[in-house]
Amino acid sequence: MTYTKLKLKPKREISLTRRHPWVFSGGLAHIAEPLQDGEVVQITDSRGTTMATGHYSKGSIAVRVLAFDEVQIDEDFYAMRISQAYDLRKQLHLAKNPDTTGFRLVHAEGDQLPGLIIDIYGDVAVVQTHSRGMENQFEMIAGAVRKVLGDSISKVIQKSAEKNGNKTAQEDGASEVVDIKENGNGFRVNYITGQKTGFFLDQRDNRALLGQYAKGKKVLNAFSYSGGFSIFALKAGAEEVHSLDSSSKAIDLVNENIALNGLESAKHKCITMDALTYLASQEAEEAQYDIVVLDPPAFAKHRSARHKAIQAYKRLNMNALKLIKPGGILFTFSCSQVVTDDLFQNTIAAAAIESNRHIRVLHHLHQPADHPVSIFHPEGAYLKGMVLSVS
Ligand code: SAH
Repeated sequence: MTYTKLKLKPKREISLTRRHPWVFSGGLAHIAEPLQDGEVVQITDSRGTTMATGHYSKGSIAVRVLAFDEVQIDEDFYAMRISQAYDLRKQLHLAKNPDTTGFRLVHAEGDQLPGLIIDIYGDVAVVQTHSRGMENQFEMIAGAVRKVLGDSISKVIQKSAEKNGNKTAQEDGASEVVDIKENGNGFRVNYITGQKTGFFLDQRDNRALLGQYAKGKKVLNAFSYSGGFSIFALKAGAEEVHSLDSSSKAIDLVNENIALNGLESAKHKCITMDALTYLASQEAEEAQYDIVVLDPPAFAKHRSARHKAIQAYKRLNMNALKLIKPGGILFTFSCSQVVTDDLFQNTIAAAAIESNRHIRVLHHLHQPADHPVSIFHPEGAYLKGMVLSVS
């Protein structure tokens, strides 16, 4: 198949030479042909030599690069990329590991497939597309997943990204849930109605780390979603765990997961409330915790919202610090891509000063290895966190 060629303006090749996978609309010379949103195109330098193949989209990121050469984008292409992605997960002991049956198979630019997320939950592959190009090629992608993962997959689900709060999912079977294991602990994943693809796989390593600190402790898990951190704390012998989320659906999932793991519900309490309201309440102040986990949703999705987001992280962390016993621990996270590690650390420092607490950094945390970051696309690093000793 021949693809429409889009020419770069003179001197605009540098970003592709450095293997950055995005071509901005401002870098392109005048586009003569009518283009469909999502169609496959080739990018040429200003003299007409092909440099890359990718998905076109109407918007400031005009092309998301799939390959830095001239290639056909078909099922074989996706099978080749997905097979490379799967090889990495095998190296990470994530494929066919009975103790951890949920993992990210494809992490967009981190696996040279911009706009595509594929999460594996047991025998279900959940595909989330973040570009029209990927959405259009879902059937090819599903075929490639089946080809590479074979019998280990029984269904491939398409779950499109959340747009204006509306979610859609297409399903070819009856069930909506699948039970997975994460480091030996069980979780029920609803890949149709759940948030994102159904579960936050990106906190796997950090939940395990919480387990190392939780024995005999009183823990507040704020922004708990389905209770990932809560289950790890309880399994590790925490004395008491409070799971807090503003979504009652999330809290229902926590209760299901408590039951699924045969845990004593007497040691666990659910709080369905806005996090700031709870953290600032008399009830919370009286509760006092050994460990607080703060894993809020992204406060800033764009650079323009960064300043406001910083203020929100600061307020949240200040309120959390008040509830931590001297010598206690704060696990604090930001999944806003535009908030860098440095900026996040400075924000927490400001919160510590205003709260008059002394803080030491015990660990710097990030997304796990099945959410890899291309060195040419540092924007792929989004999750950051710290474990802090609070005196
Ligand atoms: N820590 C979780 C993932 C958190 S996702 C895990 O390990 O799986 C963020 C969660 O914050 C969502 O469940 C969302 O419902 C919740 N949330 C969003 N705004 C909130 C608010 N203002 N107060 C409390 N919870 C909130």
